[in-house]
Amino acid sequence: MTLLADVSTRGGPAAPPAPSPAAVSSTAVAPPGEGTANPVNAMSVDVEDYFQVSAFEGHIRREDWARLPCRVEANVDRILALFDAHGIRATFFTLGWVAERYPSMVRRIVAGGHELASHGYAHVRVTALDEPGFRADLTRTKALLEDIGGTQVLGYRAPSYSIGAGNLWALRVLEETGHHYSSSIYPIRHDLYGMPEAPRFCFRPAGCERLLEVPVTTVAFGERKYPCGGGGYFRLFPYAYSRWALRRVNRRDRQPAVFYFHPWEIDPAQPRQRGIGLKTRVRHYLNLRRMEVRLNRLATDFRWSRMDWVFLPEQAEEHDRAA
Ligand SMILES: [Zn+2]
Repeated sequence: MTLLADVSTRGGPAAPPAPSPAAVSSTAVAPPGEGTANPVNAMSVDVEDYFQVSAFEGHIRREDWARLPCRVEANVDRILALFDAHGIRATFFTLGWVAERYPSMVRRIVAGGHELASHGYAHVRVTALDEPGFRADLTRTKALLEDIGGTQVLGYRAPSYSIGAGNLWALRVLEETGHHYSSSIYPIRHDLYGMPEAPRFCFRPAGCERLLEVPVTTVAFGERKYPCGGGGYFRLFPYAYSRWALRRVNRRDRQPAVFYFHPWEIDPAQPRQRGIGLKTRVRHYLNLRRMEVRLNRLATDFRWSRMDWVFLPEQAEEHDRAA
């Protein structure tokens, strides 16, 4: 079976040719705004604190999280103010652990018109869970977020993009637990995550009736693809690279981009973690001071909205009717 089935794309461009080898059979799906040269892109924030990142897993124990000074609430408030200044509504993939401790922050996210979505309970990578464990994590976090936020949770992002070729069963479990989309696959090769053979754009995984997988954005250049959807790359490369790459995705691929960042990335004053390797140190701390300026440029240079409004047709229609 080929990687991408041939499907109609509502007047948009044809699905790109299937890369090989095929590791997941899937159907390309056209998002509501696809096919224009200036589509609305999806902005997302992974709501976790500086000590919860996977790169620090070997250095900070989960049992110690509660004793560390939390900075996530203040940082999220700065992000909410930044989005407000630009009239942007975004998606906040939130850890259950954080939501439990900062319920009023969760309610401010929802009150601001943003989408509340799940990032799992305690940032355990899906690769570290078996099926019952993953199901329990999804169910617990979804119920917790819905209870606190008073809104339906449809979206999920795996900690550290930990869904890939080795655990595609997780997508079916996401559907069974009532999620409508996942943004958990990074279609690149990376030392910590990635599934380079996955489709670059929104697709319905084989075996799923409704669930969409919305990969983080990559840009294709020559034979290769490169990350351009945020994270450390956004801080590592000059802003001009990100702007070029996202424009190329919008204009050439005629697809909406998916961008993400973390609250701790706009916080140069966060406590420094000792005893970590050079690579981890560079990835985590590089250019934190430049982040907010770059985000403001990104907010001005592109059109942004919530993941559900960009990718889920029924949510987009509901939003259009309400607008
Ligand atoms: Zn995360």
